[in-house]
Amino acid sequence: MTAELPFLPFSRPTIDEETIAAVGEVLRSGWITTGPKNQAFEALLSAYFGGRPVRTFNSGTCTMEIALRIAGVGADDEVITTPVSWPATANVILEVGATPVFADIDPVTRNIDLDKLEAAITPRTKALIPVYLSGLPVDMDRLYAIANRHGLRVIEDAAQALGSTWNGKRIGSFGDFVSFSFQANKNLTTGEGGCLVLNTPEEARLAEKYRLQGVTRSGVDGIDVDVLGGKYNMSDIMAAIGLGQMKQLEALTAHRAALARHYFDCFGPDFERDTGAQLPLQAFGTSNWHLFQIILPDQGPGTRAAFMTRLQQDYNIGTGYHYAPIHLLTLYRERGFREGMFPHAEQIGRLTVTLPMFNAMTTQEVERVVAAVKAVLKKDAAQ
Ligand SMILES: *Cc1c(COP(=O)(O)O)cnc(C)c1O
Repeated sequence: MTAELPFLPFSRPTIDEETIAAVGEVLRSGWITTGPKNQAFEALLSAYFGGRPVRTFNSGTCTMEIALRIAGVGADDEVITTPVSWPATANVILEVGATPVFADIDPVTRNIDLDKLEAAITPRTKALIPVYLSGLPVDMDRLYAIANRHGLRVIEDAAQALGSTWNGKRIGSFGDFVSFSFQANKNLTTGEGGCLVLNTPEEARLAEKYRLQGVTRSGVDGIDVDVLGGKYNMSDIMAAIGLGQMKQLEALTAHRAALARHYFDCFGPDFERDTGAQLPLQAFGTSNWHLFQIILPDQGPGTRAAFMTRLQQDYNIGTGYHYAPIHLLTLYRERGFREGMFPHAEQIGRLTVTLPMFNAMTTQEVERVVAAVKAVLKKDAAQ
């Protein structure tokens, strides 16, 4: 029992003193909402994504909603996505009046199965929203081959994938719309926030309008509104945090990969066979290791709750679950979705557990988690 050790959360943000000082400067500057810090943050992000236009927002949810609006997705349109994501991914489809269509996941990658995605395309399909769960991209070449073959827009829900790569290229540096979140648990945070990578200056201008009430200003005192925008801008307080965090992105991504490597080493080659649990894909070189998720051996209803409770109570270790399948949430059941429609998503949704993984985590803490997981699973197996 190691319950006397300090609580180890599954995620914890780290903001360095330099960044805290930079936030203090913004607070003292007389300009705290969207301004120079946002401009600098957008420019830095754009450079990071190979010069593509980038706009900041106050969440990674509205980024996707706005991308759907820019793509002209609305009533009568279908949008295909994965059932294993945060509800935001499907909610934004409903928000713009379109119809969410789910395709089951691949049980190995736990991302949307691209064969099933392609099979779900109908004449009404207008866009695709793939999710890169835990920071692992889908097969990006195949994704865009399918999108191009069927003339579909792609809104990449790369909320978890800042720092991930595909064939050596950064996620966000290519493709169609790419949406990132800077929510507190993400690898890089602004407290809350997000950004959208776009294709053209025209799309970027439209994004600015949707971000702030549809407003365009002209001359000294001219104003007009010609699209229905909302209130989605990022404050300079948030942007100052993002600027500070960006300096560490490369180092923290490397650190997370080292932690993931240590997880695999500590679990060892026999862990899956011995326990019936399933480790994630060893996606070194593509994933940014946003989450480290294992699939528990199925011991019937309550398997995950019992496991999470044991880790918390006996070992003082926090865990998470990402995610409960969206199609089984009430709002989606009301639209006709049922158990049995996406068996892989349902199985993984019931048994997935997210182990601690965060920027300031240490290899000793990885060892502590692995020892606790092994002990709990061994005890379960002995019962
Ligand atoms: C975090 C997250 C979102 C939502 O981002 P917010 O910034 O919280 O709005 C959407 N999709 C996925 C996969 C996420 O992890």
